[in-house]
Amino acid sequence: MRVNITLACTECGERNYITTKNKRNNPERLELKKYCSRDKKVTLHRETK
Ligand SMILES: [Zn+2]
Repeated sequence: MRVNITLACTECGERNYITTKNKRNNPERLELKKYCSRDKKVTLHRETK
C-alpha cells in the first residue's frame, strides 16, 4: 500500500524531498512543513505526481 511521492515547495516549486506514504492512512494530498534550500527557510511542501 506504500507509494512513492515527491514533496514540492509551495513557494518556489522546487522538488526537495522524495518519500513514501501509506495510501490507506493518507488518501488525500500530503502537506508538510519542510526546509527549502532555495528559499533558505521552512515552507509548506505539498505532494506532487
Ligand atoms: Zn522553496
